Amino acid sequence: MLIVKKFGGTSVADKERILNVARRCVEEYKKGNEVVVVLSAMGKQTDVLLTQAREINPNASKREIDMLLTTGEQISVALMAMAIDSLGVPAISLNAFQVAMHTTSVYSNARLKRIDSERIRNELASKKIVIITGFQGINQVDDYTTLGRGGSDTTAVALAAALNADACEIYTDVDGVFTADPRVVPNARKIEEITYDEMLELASLGAGVLHNRSVEMAKKYGVQLVVRSSLNNTEGTIVKEEVSMEKLLVSGVAADRNTARIAVMGLEDQPGVAFKLFNHLAKHNINVDIILQSVGRDGTKDISFTVSEDNVDEAVEILERHREGSLKCHGIDVEKNVAKVSIVGAGMMTNAGVAAKMFEALYDAGVNIKMISTSEIRVTVLIDESYVDQAMKAVHDKFSLA
Ligand code: ADP
Ligand code: ASP
Ligand code: MG
Repeated sequence: MLIVKKFGGTSVADKERILNVARRCVEEYKKGNEVVVVLSAMGKQTDVLLTQAREINPNASKREIDMLLTTGEQISVALMAMAIDSLGVPAISLNAFQVAMHTTSVYSNARLKRIDSERIRNELASKKIVIITGFQGINQVDDYTTLGRGGSDTTAVALAAALNADACEIYTDVDGVFTADPRVVPNARKIEEITYDEMLELASLGAGVLHNRSVEMAKKYGVQLVVRSSLNNTEGTIVKEEVSMEKLLVSGVAADRNTARIAVMGLEDQPGVAFKLFNHLAKHNINVDIILQSVGRDGTKDISFTVSEDNVDEAVEILERHREGSLKCHGIDVEKNVAKVSIVGAGMMTNAGVAAKMFEALYDAGVNIKMISTSEIRVTVLIDESYVDQAMKAVHDKFSLA
């Protein structure tokens, strides 16, 4: 069997943990399996590097930031190869360049396009454990790119697909995917099985346990995932197309604090206004999330929407530039201390009243809702950031998820 194992930052945070992971990989290898290991940077190394960059130059180019960040993963793979070697098993570390993991050109948020698997296959054929840097790629001009925070999961899934692996295991610092972040909701429960669609929603709505693109890719290529702990041997969560259990009304609750709201007020109430507004942002690759438009009054209307907090300053700057020209609005208002809280569940599709139940939980907890958005399998509300933890607990309790 060919097995891809991915270990996150906490799992390789220090010498002991690296050796612990090395032992786990050697154990798998000694069963006669081919083992490909994907690693994140050690501990909080990526944050440390970002802080260093900001201290030197708050406006550092994304190219140089990616060049810097890729060093984090390079350290952990080299140390892991040394650790495995010390246990008497041949190992080799490879970075994105050496494998050739091709991505789109967007620095800091690139997408994997193609992986050359030849080098990896050759190394596996010579009986080595192959250890590969997560999170990084190379673009058309041979520059390093990164896949967005948490992107090592996506590297692992992409490799599992490219190598046609028999298993893709994501090892992390919790026992699996829970009904809510167990650090926020202590009585959250581990989920045994979850569908790609539900997991994709949860991951996209802030459940940081998996990078959302990794789930997207797993679904596209039919890669079954297991999310489990690197620190113990408990069975984890299986992420797959269909689950055998009854569809739950609500499978999980997620929160995303990395959100900001922009309100554009006094826009002309006529065709083309929304197009112009969002087209300015789209041209700069700024994704817009929940959108709310007020009822037109006296020939004007307001449009408010959410963006990732990372993009909010740039978004406002772009809109201010067009304020007098194509937008002709009266004012632009920004609120950064907001967060999204969402419930996700495939059973929602066929059940009325789920949203109302969530709103009731928030009402009972005294949490005011600023915006609402729904899809077939999710309900999202925008609230004040300081209420996130209590909102999550209240909603989690309401649906008896514990
Ligand atoms: P890694 O470094 O292994 O990739 P991450 O920090 O990216 O680890 O992801 C694991 C963390 O995700 C957990 O420590 C947990 O706090 C958080 N998390 C958020 N939502 C969930 C959830 N629904 N289930 C499990 N963990 C979650
Ligand atoms: N090291 C990167 C990060 O901290 C990628 C990852 O851990 O998946 O975001
Ligand atoms: Mg992660």
